[in-house]
Amino acid sequence: MNPVIPSTVVTRFAPSPTGWLHEGHAYSAGFAWARAQQAGGRFLLRVEDIDRTRCRPEFDAGLLEDLAWLGLRWEEPVRRQSQHFDGYRAALNGLSSRRLLYPCFCTRKQVLAEIARIGGAPHAEDGTAIYPGTCRHLSDDERSSRIASGEGYALRLDLAAACALHPSLLWHDEELGEQQATYEVLHALHGDAVLARKETPASYHLCVTLDDALQGITLVTRAVDLRSATPLHRLLQALFDLPTPAYAHHPLLVDAGGERLAKRHNAPSLRECRAAGEQPAALWRRLGFDPALFGF
Ligand code: GLU
Repeated sequence: MNPVIPSTVVTRFAPSPTGWLHEGHAYSAGFAWARAQQAGGRFLLRVEDIDRTRCRPEFDAGLLEDLAWLGLRWEEPVRRQSQHFDGYRAALNGLSSRRLLYPCFCTRKQVLAEIARIGGAPHAEDGTAIYPGTCRHLSDDERSSRIASGEGYALRLDLAAACALHPSLLWHDEELGEQQATYEVLHALHGDAVLARKETPASYHLCVTLDDALQGITLVTRAVDLRSATPLHRLLQALFDLPTPAYAHHPLLVDAGGERLAKRHNAPSLRECRAAGEQPAALWRRLGFDPALFGF
């Protein structure tokens, strides 16, 4: 592969307003900011608020406040995913018309029962069992009549059909070098991934992939726990004919006891640090960044 070296580095921080930001978020934002600053590039913010049941306006306002306090500045307007459901729907319709998506009527319980019946299924890295493909084989007639009868469904990617179009996909991971996604890799990690469900009409994977391209992101930076999402994002890029950014990952912040901050419910929020009188420069230093990068 001959990667095209982009002339400008464009990074982003993409938090979800489902809680107050904590130091782990500051670290992630600082990582993206530093990479853009060091390259004389651009830094963008994106609010990933597709999950309308968990996102709250006060967290959205709070994250802007916290990031500004940290000295970060971003280009306006901020992209808010909840304002772009039409675009995500159009993308899903495009995949459906190419027969790359299928409706899945299975409840979680039914999926587990089917897995038990067939004697087990491989598990993805996050511990969830890989979907055994039950609804992939339904006829068009059955699909239409179940949808018409009001039965709820999710839309899943037909991974085998998608990989038949793109059997080998490459991208650059800064820590691991050139990476390759094949059907085997994708099946082990994601199976027929859900790209939309009733309560969340566009999945994280779909929105992130489309938005990174739309926003012209050239370097996706995120925590190492999201590395396994990239093969699927790379496949979606190929299906939508989008450019492929480079990827860089940072370690997850852990507390003194080794527990991940993101998993800790009582991890001190940035607003609590602020209320306790901590200065942003001190916080950046504590996280291992040079405060000068942020104007302090
Ligand atoms: N919104 C995601 C999160 O808060 C980050 C998505 C990404 O960086 O790809 O975990």
